Amino acid sequence: MKNIVLFGPPGAGKGTQAEIIKLKYDLFHISTGDVFRNNIKNNTELGLLAKGFMNKGELVPDEITIKMLSEVVEKNKHVNGFIFDGFPRTESQAIALEQLLLKFNTSISAMIALEVDDEILINRLLERGKGSGRADDSNREIIENRIKEYYAKTAILKTFYQRKNCYYGVDGIGAIEDITFRIIDVINKL
Ligand code: AMP
Repeated sequence: MKNIVLFGPPGAGKGTQAEIIKLKYDLFHISTGDVFRNNIKNNTELGLLAKGFMNKGELVPDEITIKMLSEVVEKNKHVNGFIFDGFPRTESQAIALEQLLLKFNTSISAMIALEVDDEILINRLLERGKGSGRADDSNREIIENRIKEYYAKTAILKTFYQRKNCYYGVDGIGAIEDITFRIIDVINKL
């Protein structure tokens, strides 16, 4: 079973690449951001809980996020492998993911990190916000807060996965197909 964490700051291109990579390797794609957005759209209890944090560009608390992610993984435990997009985002989430996968005798094969400069990220997100209708992409202050959250809570996961010898940095700047090739190159060597 191949389980990939697609990692990187907001706007790095995780969602776009996950959509392509999941098809190539027959992986089950979990985007925690998409799950939250669907819950908000359907006015669920989880959606109501998550909305306030998301609209401010803050992370949804670990307890809520881990419970949600665990339920999705449990429900789909018979798949060929997972591609996690937007999870884990804190050390507690990374530990919870490790324990969850261990229950199914599997683990993370690679964390593939898309590396992109902050200024490019902000411009990409502002551009996406024009068409996506995403409240958290529409305003520079919220975007900057998301990037701040990334550096404060998420970036440390690089060391977490480096210690496990499964961290792979990939240049996230360039044409979508070129970045896909860089990711495929990593996965094919696993
Ligand atoms: P994304 O679609 O991955 O950019 O996520 C959008 C927003 O959803 C984030 O800014 C967070 O508010 C929330 N979110 C998504 N994934 C997580 C996570 N793993 N932990 C906490 N909050 C999350």
